Amino acid sequence: MPVTDTSSALDLCRFIDSSPSPYHAVQEAALRLTAAGFTELDQDGAVPAPGRHLIRSGGALIAWADEGRSPDAPLRIVGAHTDSPNLRLKPLPDRSGAGCRQVGVEVYGGALLNSWLDRDLGFSGRLVVRNGAGTRVVLVRDDRPVARIPQLAVHLDRGVNDKGLVLNPQVHLSPVLGPGTAQDGDFAALVASAAGVDPGDVLAFDVMFHDLTPSRLVGLEEDMVSAPRIDNLLSCHAGTEALVAAAEGHGPVPVLALFDHEEVGSVSSTGAAGPLLERILRHFVGLDGRPTGDSIVFSVDGAHATHPNYPERHDPEHRILLDGGPVLKFNARERYATDAVGAGIVRLAAERAGVQIQSFVSRSDMACGSTIGPATAAVLGIRTVDLGVAQLAMHSARELCGSADPARLRDLLVVLLA
Ligand code: ZN
Repeated sequence: MPVTDTSSALDLCRFIDSSPSPYHAVQEAALRLTAAGFTELDQDGAVPAPGRHLIRSGGALIAWADEGRSPDAPLRIVGAHTDSPNLRLKPLPDRSGAGCRQVGVEVYGGALLNSWLDRDLGFSGRLVVRNGAGTRVVLVRDDRPVARIPQLAVHLDRGVNDKGLVLNPQVHLSPVLGPGTAQDGDFAALVASAAGVDPGDVLAFDVMFHDLTPSRLVGLEEDMVSAPRIDNLLSCHAGTEALVAAAEGHGPVPVLALFDHEEVGSVSSTGAAGPLLERILRHFVGLDGRPTGDSIVFSVDGAHATHPNYPERHDPEHRILLDGGPVLKFNARERYATDAVGAGIVRLAAERAGVQIQSFVSRSDMACGSTIGPATAAVLGIRTVDLGVAQLAMHSARELCGSADPARLRDLLVVLLA
């Protein structure tokens, strides 16, 4: 395997481990972009001279490079999402059960609930704290193994291996923090102490759990990436790297749009179905003066590799190989936005980038997932293509993909943004 492929996969592992929450993913992308000469703007601020710019809004980030470009150059937009299914703290989380301190959680997105059992969990997110007469936002992260959701012993659940594991999210998913009795305010105090702020100043929080096992290369040849949140931090990582490379060019205007809330339907102020991207492009990038027909959105998100233990769940003519190259995603009901014109553009770019392309479609008798692609296409009215890297165990707390594909996706996006 070429050295560059491994280094990209290892860099992806670092990106993922730096990003346990959408807010941290935005922070990590912003750090990398700032190091590459991007400056951060306020979304309500004045329009600066053309250059390299980024705007953050909660778990979303929009960045672009318009220096040296014509005001009527088309847009090349890479979209991805920063959020992943997980377990999020309730506003009054403290509870006790059978002599254990526990916290109450909600399930965020379509998580594989079983994958959260018997893992050592830390927490991360953001706090809103008192700041004089106003408030400020503080990121928080605690990588100590403070919580664990123990599975019921097999002796007390004899049918579990034949009938399957049924988990009620209200009853069976409360993490245990230790023996004892919880007091109201315990968890808020823990979060405040992790953030280094006075517990009395914490007004509210958006906090979630993450598995503490580090991301790593696995397999006989170390040719797979084992990590949480591959869906969709892999695409955020590749998009960030591609924007940095494309910023040097002089043709179309490359844009990176990292949205929050894809896993719960994208309808929010920082989701792809909201006006965030359109408003920023209109205000800062002169959206109305740019050609719609020549502009294009690449909606980059995880794709399902054909599972070797469940090949019947996949269309037999559209086998998707792990580490077999980026995947174009098609769906006749527009759950993916790809059309033939967009697919042609990607195939041509893939030839120039020297990467193989795979084509995904669901079995006709199975429902299809979706992405930010259709939402973005509907808001902007710009042709959109759905593509991404093949993975297994999508929405598990621990996902799996090939170790050469991240670099291939980045190389393809670099050509597509040019
Ligand atoms: Zn996704």
